[in-house]
Amino acid sequence: MAAIATLGSHCALQVLKGAKDEGLKSILICEKKREKLYRRFGFIDELILVDSFLEILEQKCNSILEKNNAILIPHGTLIAQMNSEQIESLKVPVFGNKSILRWESDRKLKEKLMHEANLNVPKSISNPKEINKLVIAKRYGAAGGKGYFLTTSEADYNKKRDKLIAQGIIKGDNDLYLQEYHSGVLAYLQYFYSPLKEELEFFGVDKRHESDIEGLARIPSKQQMEIEDVPSFNVIANSPLVLRESLLDEVYSMGERFVEASKKLVSPGMNGPFCIEGVYDADAKFNAFEFSARIVAGTNMYMEGSPYSTLLYDVPMSMGRRIALEIKNAESSNQIDKIVT
Ligand code: ATP
Repeated sequence: MAAIATLGSHCALQVLKGAKDEGLKSILICEKKREKLYRRFGFIDELILVDSFLEILEQKCNSILEKNNAILIPHGTLIAQMNSEQIESLKVPVFGNKSILRWESDRKLKEKLMHEANLNVPKSISNPKEINKLVIAKRYGAAGGKGYFLTTSEADYNKKRDKLIAQGIIKGDNDLYLQEYHSGVLAYLQYFYSPLKEELEFFGVDKRHESDIEGLARIPSKQQMEIEDVPSFNVIANSPLVLRESLLDEVYSMGERFVEASKKLVSPGMNGPFCIEGVYDADAKFNAFEFSARIVAGTNMYMEGSPYSTLLYDVPMSMGRRIALEIKNAESSNQIDKIVT
């Protein structure tokens, strides 16, 4: 029987609890500094202690994973700490499609896939000279919102960019991606696509709390003007949302179009958990500015299931548990090759 392994961070607790709920062995690749934390949880069967997560690329770690017939569940920490080449060179079977993680990390590829899925993607701006409305400047890669800023003119952009350069956060223009800013209600749509059932499941939706852009709304505009620092979009926490039921049909359509587009552009497609991230405007139109091609941390709040997973499953079904269930189903029907790369 397969074991489930993941890196000790992000959503490891949810993933490994889910493995245990489905009766699979759970393995944590754990940085030594976090050992005490993770030893608190009885559902983690084995810890592989490392000084750095990069050790997962080494033979020692690999042979333990291989001996256990382990499948690695990728999450945000894997993407933040390894580049696409390193991820693609992993020997351990990776749940989902590891090639699509490159498309998540590269803003140009990301945009291409989102356009192919026919999502409403805010326009990107290739040259700061073209800034003539509210624009968000974002860093490349999974920077988690740190060092992102809003601007409305080239002069203001240059000032803020120079500040980030002076702070050592970016090197120059090439580290920033500019996109039209859309305001409204932020929503992060969590999906699971099963290549076994050939079916898309909408699993939940959350909202992110980002500091300190969110804190600005609590300060009168006069004092906002006096703040020297460039406010960031650093993710601090997530909270649950439920959507108006009339929006659900389009939520499913967007997810299905995304699955279809990824089958076309990144074989074998978007298998397993993913998230489409964006903002609902005043006409309830969804503007998608981002996707994550793997489990997102916003699913952590639904360890007991979400309002949407409850509609699909009679047992409390977290995203972590859904992954374990898919692995079990693939094993029992001899189709593991369909769910890992
Ligand atoms: P993560 O990897 O954590 O998803 P990221 O580095 O890929 O983050 P985005 O998710 O694209 O970055 O952006 C971070 C935050 O910036 C969003 O959560 C949202 O609050 C805001 N944001 C990004 N793009 C837009 C946009 N076009 N319009 C409005 N807000 C935006």
